Amino acid sequence: MSFKAKKVANKWIDGNESRLTEMSDAIWEYAELGYVEFKSAKLLADELESHGFKVERGVAGIPTAFVGIWGKGKPVIGVMGEYDALPGLSQKVSPIKEPIEVGEPGHGCGHNIHGTSGLGGAIALRYAIDETGLKGTVKFFGCPAEEMLSGKVWMVREGVFDGVDAVISHHPSSMNNAGLSSSNANNAVKFHYRGKTSHAAGSPEQGRSALDAVELMNIGVNFLREHVIQDARIHYVIEEGGGQPNVVPGYARSWYLIRAPERDQLEPIYERILKIAEGAALMTETELEVEFIKGIYNKVPSLTLSKVVTANMREIGAPTYTAEEMAFAEMVSESISEASKRTTLWKTKRPGWEDLMTVLMDGSVPDAWNDGEVSHGSTDVSDVSWMTPTMEFSTATYILGTPGHSWQNVAFSGMSIGHKSLFYASKIIASTAIDLLTKPELIKEAWEELDKRKAGRVYRSPIPADLGPPLDQWKK
Ligand SMILES: [Zn+2]
Repeated sequence: MSFKAKKVANKWIDGNESRLTEMSDAIWEYAELGYVEFKSAKLLADELESHGFKVERGVAGIPTAFVGIWGKGKPVIGVMGEYDALPGLSQKVSPIKEPIEVGEPGHGCGHNIHGTSGLGGAIALRYAIDETGLKGTVKFFGCPAEEMLSGKVWMVREGVFDGVDAVISHHPSSMNNAGLSSSNANNAVKFHYRGKTSHAAGSPEQGRSALDAVELMNIGVNFLREHVIQDARIHYVIEEGGGQPNVVPGYARSWYLIRAPERDQLEPIYERILKIAEGAALMTETELEVEFIKGIYNKVPSLTLSKVVTANMREIGAPTYTAEEMAFAEMVSESISEASKRTTLWKTKRPGWEDLMTVLMDGSVPDAWNDGEVSHGSTDVSDVSWMTPTMEFSTATYILGTPGHSWQNVAFSGMSIGHKSLFYASKIIASTAIDLLTKPELIKEAWEELDKRKAGRVYRSPIPADLGPPLDQWKK
């Protein structure tokens, strides 16, 4: 049964490569930022409907979040897709840095592929179930604003993932692997300071500088760095610092992102940062307003699902590339120094990473090596991973050594190397889901592993109960 179902799914994906490419490229071109992915979400949701999925749009109070359901009964297999772009990363499909329009967004994290590979996998699975008489439900989760604004946290809080037996998701990367590393928990928060304007030379004694408060807060936090755990990360930008230097700034604002490997390591650091923020207001006689943007958890990995995904990756086989594609890759590689490639590979801690120094596109499928490691970034996939066994695997979309969130990623995500990683990922998603449908013991094992890894820890939504998603963040 599983062999036949996988054959049906793979055939559907092979036969629909041009449609999947068209959708991925359309989302690549839309390059919409978090919570304003109106065209991208509509494209994917409409496509699901055209294949008989029942689609609910605007879930969790987010206009660009949706769920597509096909089939009935247990088990319920979830597939996630993301489709938000990153600001300032506009780039043509070109092997040299060449923006389409300077300063505009681009798909520097490959979420055009993420959304479409998930969609392809979910639809292929639907046909495999239909044609072989397998039992179960496919749920595609259209997940907006993964970058910075963490749409899934609100979807989790509203119970959108309740009742799902396992979730599979794909993310473009430079390697084919079903990773086991956790990710950092984080909080994003804005600090608004309001003071009093005055002539900066004529009557400075009358002014209360909001910018001083922002700067003093930053100084306090920079001293705090010595007294937090080594693995914590604190970043900020000054979003607004005043108009011109001859006016004491009456309003200034900073945006902080605070990370730590575990949610309960993050909380005390966050509390101390709040105290520093208040201290800066006290020193400058300004008013402070704290705007909590979002918080997320660290990821709970799944060895059970990693093994199933890895086996399917090997069975399907990683893509191969034409001479033309390799020439493109070779040209992009000229923008990445040997030293930075070495550091990027070293940081992965993958056994034998040294051998990859001479490799451009990684065609191998290693066993997951990173159980117990914490990747430096954060993702709202983590919050889903506390609800149900979750696996976000990656396929090689970029050359080895490419920095994350870069113009190089935008270029690869819009061309045939990216498309090949998409088809590969869709097949992996469908085949993994078919294994879960045909071997119920895998789902049982995945849930037992999840319970063991949670070790009695309970997920509490990291966002205040009365706080809604920051839908207007990128609205023009
Ligand atoms: Zn991403």
